[in-house]
Amino acid sequence: MKHLFSILFLAISSTLFSQSYWQQKVDYKMDINFDDVKHQFKGKQKLVYTNDSPDELDKVFYHLYFNAFQPGSMMDIRSLTIIDPDRRVGDRISKLKPEEEGYQKINSLTMNGKPVDFKVVGTILEVKLPASIKPGESATFDMDFEAQVPIQIRRSGRNNKEGIDYSMTQWYPKISEYDYEGWHSNPYVGREFHGVWGDFDVTIQMNKKYTIAGTGVLQNATEIGKGYTDKVVTDPNPSSTKHNWHFVAKNVHDFAWAADPDYKHDIKTLDNGTKIHFFYQTDTLVENWEKCQDYTVRAFQYVNKKYGEYPYSDYSIIQGGDGGMEYPMATLITSHGSFGGLVSVIIHEGLHSWYQGMMATNESKYPWMDEGFTSYAQHDAMDFVYGKNELNPHLGAHRNYHFLVKKNEQEPLTTHADHYKKNRTYGISVYSKGEVFLDQLDYIIGEKAFEKTMMEYYNQWKFKHPNANDFKRVAEQVSGLELDWYLEQFIGTTNFIDYSIEGFEKCEKTSTAIKLKRVGDMPMPLDVAVTLKDGTVKVYNIPLAIMRGAKTESKYTDYTVVSEDWPWTNPEFTLCIEVKEKDIEKVEIDPSLRLSDIERKNNVFPREKK
Ligand SMILES: [Zn+2]
Repeated sequence: MKHLFSILFLAISSTLFSQSYWQQKVDYKMDINFDDVKHQFKGKQKLVYTNDSPDELDKVFYHLYFNAFQPGSMMDIRSLTIIDPDRRVGDRISKLKPEEEGYQKINSLTMNGKPVDFKVVGTILEVKLPASIKPGESATFDMDFEAQVPIQIRRSGRNNKEGIDYSMTQWYPKISEYDYEGWHSNPYVGREFHGVWGDFDVTIQMNKKYTIAGTGVLQNATEIGKGYTDKVVTDPNPSSTKHNWHFVAKNVHDFAWAADPDYKHDIKTLDNGTKIHFFYQTDTLVENWEKCQDYTVRAFQYVNKKYGEYPYSDYSIIQGGDGGMEYPMATLITSHGSFGGLVSVIIHEGLHSWYQGMMATNESKYPWMDEGFTSYAQHDAMDFVYGKNELNPHLGAHRNYHFLVKKNEQEPLTTHADHYKKNRTYGISVYSKGEVFLDQLDYIIGEKAFEKTMMEYYNQWKFKHPNANDFKRVAEQVSGLELDWYLEQFIGTTNFIDYSIEGFEKCEKTSTAIKLKRVGDMPMPLDVAVTLKDGTVKVYNIPLAIMRGAKTESKYTDYTVVSEDWPWTNPEFTLCIEVKEKDIEKVEIDPSLRLSDIERKNNVFPREKK
């Protein structure tokens, strides 16, 4: 009885836990006064922090990202010591002169008017609170700070190689996230960000020659103009050398901006009214920037229907001069490349508005969920905008992933983004293997269930911080299948997939038996396609016993679920079918090419001669 009671209690408490998701909230009000001669700015930041956690907080942390751009920083040392440093970083940080470095200095900080104890440790500000913030309480932090914009090394900075004056990302003291997994005061070593959901109200005083582009909606367009309004522009301070740019962004977890005197500003409007802004330099490849706008509109409209609607009124695509990086309601991208490259980076960064922007996974812990999911949707959307309709638009990702497997350089996808042994391993793992994760999920649970899973993920998790298990649970709820083995094997280990068709056998029950073998360690359900000499194709699905079911639909017309499951412990399986061996032209495992089998030659029988 006691035993039964404790089981009952466990069941109830786990239900309560799943219903008691919580997240912190923060409202930023910032006033920035920018000096474009010294490349420095002074800032006042008022932050209202609401503790919606069940815990009392006696400390908080802020990120001071600009401090990474100083000789001897963790980012510098990591770049000097990793096997394959990012060429954009290399040893450049170690050679920065004081006037080229970045910094964020805290002049004063109070909580509810009382001074707090704080200490700067590299890119993290550690703050001891004068009184703890209790569950449900809010606290107001007032900060005075000053900063110097570094020469652009990565993402943020000034005077980059495409001639953009200021790329202002990771530019303000940003409070660290405390979520249902604890504190995330992650130092800025290489990449990846995580932030607290909230509202931003930002005013930037900037020399009038500049156009500013960024997160949020410009509140005083008619005072400034610069392509933001068709209405008559009236400057309220004609004698001042600066404009006050006032932006508001609601329900986001970061704020980025860029400024340049030569930005051209175009706007396209989607069917649902969302405005897409394009900011690019007039001395760049203007033709590409003009041509890419229709592709962008079509991609957003396609994605809105398939992956959930973009919920904000504005999105800005900004030439920033260094790679591509996603921010809420905006992206900074490079554009000194081909037209195809420009479209590709715009669609990729645009899709981050879904994966990381709205479904705000912790990028440090789950980088494959933002880069991999984004890459998946990107290649799907690109297949659509270019009208290619390929059998599988994700094959490039499979190839990259197989390269890593064959090099024996895999690390599990559970690795923290900054901790991969090589930058290349990080890149291929999170972008390509992450993309393959979704392509294979489509194969495992069926196309309709997969599409519904992506939409349901958006419905359940937008404006939150989902983790890997949260996504898996959605796929399980939609498909009715157990998928913990898939997450555990494909994400948590470096096991790979290799299945083989060994040949035909006599079968007692039916006419023909096909002998199958699991060569790799990772088990997967199999689609086995049998092509008959008359051209007919029959597809047999062999589920894994640990799935507790099978996909109920498939893109194949002649589709049968084999009632017998394949327990993964059995290295071999005999598939009995009601077809005569002499009528069979070919047998193939997964002709859709979604199963990431690293050796496809043995997926076909008779083996193809080459
Ligand atoms: Zn990305």
